[in-house]
Amino acid sequence: MPALNAAVVSDGTDRALNPLDASKIRWFRSRLKAWARENCRDFPWRQTRDPYAILVAELLLQKTAAATVAPVFQEFLDRYPTLADVAVAPAGEIAGLLQPLGLFFRAEKLQEAVQFIFDNYNGEIPRTEAELLRLPGVGKYMARSVCAHAFGQPAAVLDVNVARILERFFGVDGGKVKSRSPELWETADRVAPKQEVGAWNLGLLDFGAAVCTAKNPRCDKCVLQQRCDYYPFEAEHL
Ligand code: SF4
Repeated sequence: MPALNAAVVSDGTDRALNPLDASKIRWFRSRLKAWARENCRDFPWRQTRDPYAILVAELLLQKTAAATVAPVFQEFLDRYPTLADVAVAPAGEIAGLLQPLGLFFRAEKLQEAVQFIFDNYNGEIPRTEAELLRLPGVGKYMARSVCAHAFGQPAAVLDVNVARILERFFGVDGGKVKSRSPELWETADRVAPKQEVGAWNLGLLDFGAAVCTAKNPRCDKCVLQQRCDYYPFEAEHL
């Protein structure tokens, strides 16, 4: 990671904050959106706004590759088309269906979350980040993803892919635990557009998986190369 070239501002914790350049944000958005229009991947959960389907997809996608999840997701929805179907299904049956995805506790968490929704929200998936965060197994990324994709809210997400892009392009230092970095969450919020944040989130996720990869990022073919803080550093080592 190159040295940060931005002015250092104290936030009271002696950590470096990187004031973002508004014109750089606009440029980043425009380039990323254009890339996403051409390159975003297609998965069944991306074709729906159904909160139930999206919540199920997010629970299945935890630490699991999307291509692995796709067939199981479809089978899950075929067998349990509604929250009520999940609530009454035998735990062992759900565990068996999800077994190819690993993470043995996933089936249990899923049923706990569904039960919580019946107990606290009359069987309706809640619509706010704060309410979704109360569900067992649901963290900030997942809550925001549901808000953006199912309810059209301006809720940016941050995962390792998004964190890597933001750190490299804007020179933000997210520290060791990216998912808990206030700097990265703030940056994710600031760079997201005001509308269609669900589509924006997907573009970032896919860009991190296809271009700005953890190892050997494809900087030489990257549409963000021209203004990327990381690129001059990377180019020196090519
Ligand atoms: S130039 Fe390289 S480091 Fe910068 S955003 Fe593109 S792929 Fe990532």
